[in-house]
Amino acid sequence: MGEEWNQEMDAEDREHKSFFARLKEGLTKTRNNIVRGIDNVFSGFSTIDEEFYEELEEILVMGDIGVNATTQIIDRLKTQVRENHIKQPADCKEFLMQSIKEQMQVGENAYDFEREQSIVMIIGVNGVGKTTSVGKLAGKYKAEGRKVLIAAADTFRAAAGDQLAEWAKRADVPMVGGKEGADPASVVYDAVNAAKARGVDMLLIDTAGRLHNKKNLMEELRKMNRIIDREFPNAHRENFIVLDGTTGQNALVQAREFGDVAELTGIILTKMDGTAKGGIAVAIQSELQVPVKYIGVGEKIEDLQRFDPSDFVDALFDVEPEAQAETVPESVVETETTSEPDPAEAVSDETASDAPTAAEPEDTEETTPAVSEESSGSGWTMPAWVLESIAQEEAARQADPDREQEDDADEEKKEKVSFWKKLWS
Ligand code: GDP
Repeated sequence: MGEEWNQEMDAEDREHKSFFARLKEGLTKTRNNIVRGIDNVFSGFSTIDEEFYEELEEILVMGDIGVNATTQIIDRLKTQVRENHIKQPADCKEFLMQSIKEQMQVGENAYDFEREQSIVMIIGVNGVGKTTSVGKLAGKYKAEGRKVLIAAADTFRAAAGDQLAEWAKRADVPMVGGKEGADPASVVYDAVNAAKARGVDMLLIDTAGRLHNKKNLMEELRKMNRIIDREFPNAHRENFIVLDGTTGQNALVQAREFGDVAELTGIILTKMDGTAKGGIAVAIQSELQVPVKYIGVGEKIEDLQRFDPSDFVDALFDVEPEAQAETVPESVVETETTSEPDPAEAVSDETASDAPTAAEPEDTEETTPAVSEESSGSGWTMPAWVLESIAQEEAARQADPDREQEDDADEEKKEKVSFWKKLWS
């Protein structure tokens, strides 16, 4: 028993180390973008003064960490420096890392749903990695001994269902789908009833991300919510928005738009491998007050993991997690207390008598939502300046996907600061 447990721990440790290595590798560009500048400030200043803090602030804002989050991080750093009588700029680094970690703490109950009977709706615009994330999550929960079911509620594109079916096969979990053009709510109805009948622990619903107008999107999500509330009122509910880490500040705009139509309980941040804008993870979490729960660092099934702010900051600053844990003052460390899911807790008390049927008539009347042909980012009625910013960003990315920040630094900083100001005005 003891040996088995040790082996399990070893396997977990190996998995953690390998994901950490991939995270570290994935954050290389972000590291070059932020940490190099921070190191230059630490080595370039001999005293800790206002100018020192201003330089740090500028680097964090330029690294897409966001104006509010940056202010809080710097304020916390100032307090630590004062309280610990720090005199040398280089000695601030650990406190700065701690301050960023604290800025990103996920609530203690963030992963409770993994142990309960849960329905997780995955939303977001097209191309951000929704389907891929559903597949990866299905694989993860299944490997943890959970009984998983996937619902393909993106019935607008036949390809979406096919893609999800591939993932279902890879993760070895069943899937409920509908024909192309079917009412997505009817797929949800079938899936929820199948979940009840089969005693499923985790129902993952992939939704359509095509460019709706906001009103129709809201209606569609409401309709799905109504069905779930009525058919499975006891299920734990989560709504995760998937955001593409390479889109920087625009990811935040998308989250805000979706936040207006659905109560977001978590964020899945994808494509953190190969982005120079990984700092957005800090901004999103602290600006929206919605926790980043998972992070994607590649296209393979094992490339999605729980988001651990401490690992993220260690990986960003290229510090081994163990070494960091030893050197950080106890007073500043906040440990994350999340326990592993216990499959034994998750036995459904539903019986199999309630077999899935066709969608109820009330919910089948609605026709396919009208679609905005506007092809910019998250689409619907966003302010013109946001659409313009997204279009510019997209054009630059397409011209040179590996583009580094080459613009004039002052100009760029001004743009970034004005972005954040406008976002909250
Ligand atoms: P959806 O339209 O939102 O469902 O997006 P998809 O799941 O189809 O993903 C769009 C593309 O992003 C696919 O090529 C995925 O392989 C890719 N992708 C998704 N997540 C990640 C990630 O974490 N890293 C990388 N590099 N690619 C990803």
